[in-house]
Amino acid sequence: RAIVRDIDMLEEKNPSIQPKPTQEVDPTLFDKRFLRRIRDLGEGHFGKVELCQYDPREDRTGELVAVKSLKPENREEQSNNLSREIDILKALYHENIVKYKGICKEDGDQVVKLIMEYLPLGSLKEYLPRNKSKTSLSTLLNYCIQICKGMDYLGSRNYIHRDLAARNVLVENENMVKIGDFGLTKSIKDNEGYYTVKDDHDSPVFWYAPECLTLCKFYLASDVWSFGVTMYELITYCDPSKTPMTGFLDMIGRTHGQMTVIRLVKLLQEGKRLPRPDGCPVPVYELMRRCWEQVPERRISFSRLIEELNTLLQ
Ligand code: ADP
Ligand code: MG
Repeated sequence: RAIVRDIDMLEEKNPSIQPKPTQEVDPTLFDKRFLRRIRDLGEGHFGKVELCQYDPREDRTGELVAVKSLKPENREEQSNNLSREIDILKALYHENIVKYKGICKEDGDQVVKLIMEYLPLGSLKEYLPRNKSKTSLSTLLNYCIQICKGMDYLGSRNYIHRDLAARNVLVENENMVKIGDFGLTKSIKDNEGYYTVKDDHDSPVFWYAPECLTLCKFYLASDVWSFGVTMYELITYCDPSKTPMTGFLDMIGRTHGQMTVIRLVKLLQEGKRLPRPDGCPVPVYELMRRCWEQVPERRISFSRLIEELNTLLQ
């Protein structure tokens, strides 16, 4: 007892005796000095994503990573959202969700960037139009299953994505896709993202369920609706002339400007839906329609979608 006490006192007086913690480097902290920008990969509403090489040995052997930051004009208002996106992505582990690698801080921690794995084939929106000939309908349905698996996992963790669309699904290889982009748009302030919407190709309104448009309410079932629209995009191979927006505008007319959303809501309330795309088998279209039930409670679930899609593939 006395000896132990002596040792304690010795340690207190002489801290150098205490075992020093080994200097650990946090592999998720990327040093700005070694992050070399190669090119832009794309940009969305608030953020942009760049391809960079992380080269701490400075011999150009470093790995390629995708780096997401906020556009300068959105820094102030959106920085909490990027931080939230980082926290969400950090805690997600699923083969159909893009892998988080870490963060990079700049300007005395003022600016934070998200570092993710780099998927050279880009999003389905870029990939599908270029690779139509080698992508069969069953491959498309397999992508759908994988998206549902990622979404089912997300839902099991109590997250709602709110921006599911082909532009936010990344291609790992010709047989595998992953959901990317976790939610810069998810915290668009109520109404803001609704009334100020333009007839922009990527305007998310055409992916939104009625309750999102009218009440700004998002449920898990609202993601199911957006999944149905994403499925529509996949079946059209993301043909830029057949986007969900063109589909809806064909039905409501193109000259309504600010009225577009109101017309869209009315049209959906009347039970009208995007038409069956050319070449889309009826059972596949019927599955989309089950994602587009007016009432959220009546929509099919992601787990059921996985079952039904598997049945279609047999
Ligand atoms: P935003 O939130 O601004 O919409 P996204 O995360 O959707 O940003 O990224 C925008 C675009 O950048 C995507 O549509 C895709 O083309 C490209 N991109 C994003 N992440 C990656 C990645 N990890 N690998 C390759 N391309 C990517
Ligand atoms: Mg995006």
